[in-house]
Amino acid sequence: MIPYENLKRLNESFEDEFKARFNAVIQKGHYILGPQLELFEQEFATYHTAKYCVGVSNGLDAIILALRALDLPPGSEVIVPSNTYIATVLAVVACGLVPVLVEPDIHTYNIDPAKIAGAITPHTKAMIVVHLYGKMCDMDPIMAIKQKHDLYLIEDCAQAHGAKYRNKLAGTFGEFGAFSFYPTKNLGALGDGGAVLCNDDGYKDTLLQLRNYGSSRKYYNDIVGYNNRLDEMQAAFLSVKLPHLNRMNAHRNKLARLYQDHLSSEYILPVCDNDYADVFHIYNIRHKQRDDLQQYLLNKGIGTVIHYPVPPHRQKALKDLYDGKEFPIADEIHNTTLSVPCSFCHTEDEIMEVIGALNSY
Ligand SMILES: *Cc1c(COP(=O)(O)O)cnc(C)c1O
Repeated sequence: MIPYENLKRLNESFEDEFKARFNAVIQKGHYILGPQLELFEQEFATYHTAKYCVGVSNGLDAIILALRALDLPPGSEVIVPSNTYIATVLAVVACGLVPVLVEPDIHTYNIDPAKIAGAITPHTKAMIVVHLYGKMCDMDPIMAIKQKHDLYLIEDCAQAHGAKYRNKLAGTFGEFGAFSFYPTKNLGALGDGGAVLCNDDGYKDTLLQLRNYGSSRKYYNDIVGYNNRLDEMQAAFLSVKLPHLNRMNAHRNKLARLYQDHLSSEYILPVCDNDYADVFHIYNIRHKQRDDLQQYLLNKGIGTVIHYPVPPHRQKALKDLYDGKEFPIADEIHNTTLSVPCSFCHTEDEIMEVIGALNSY
């Protein structure tokens, strides 16, 4: 049996260090907004050469807080890719803003810069780009659009810790980089977690307030905030794993290269380009008989996942927003994509076994 993911195995090599940090937190007795969080925030900012990192409760909240910090007029439009995990869209809705979907490029699966201009109206104030599956968006044209139309930019980096475009890290292009540390992400906690990167002092102060009831001085609340803090224990665990992020990403890359080099032309494979350093949060292939293929692999003991079976515009929760609108490229991707094992927990032998099974389908 080759599972799609095995978190116990993924985290096994960090267990001793986790336990040491766990004991340190227990000894100190400080669980919320303490030294472990400050340390991790500093380390994560330094990794990105960003000025500030604000640890938050999860990836969805990271996007919500970034949007709230922009203080956009209610009803403002925010450009969002149609091919994304629903969290990106939900964050916009949660802030009383309007998510305007833009179709992806069928080859990269990321938002198509050429289609953004057509979605911009006088109400458009911001863009959220998603570096999906661990590949960054085509940032040069996106930055040109940002400049030309004077739009704010938030990067949803939940799948792209350590990914680069022209040697610049995901999360360092826009006003904000929003990260999730959900356990399966490339940098995963042992529970929920998230962070926002920014370079502006004012934004940083607002984020710090927003995550803690709108307060910067206990029991004095200046703005309407939330409880969106990253706790000491998760921050401590993340500090253990951050120094290994590049090595973990390199492992995913090695596995991805096996697929790239050995899979038959039966499958549509991810495009790789020298301008991009991909981190393969997900290694996806596309195939017309996707569902049958998934069942075939399951029968051979190989676990796979569909990211995602239903695109945001077809979700019941968003029915009112997108009723009657069509996003055929997002549909095409959702109908044909299959994510195959490609985690830090997998060995090269296991991936060769998956490749063997795929090539004899
Ligand atoms: C995982 C994910 C999120 C949400 O992160 P959580 O920590 O689960 O809230 C947002 N956007 C994308 C693209 C994701 O993959």
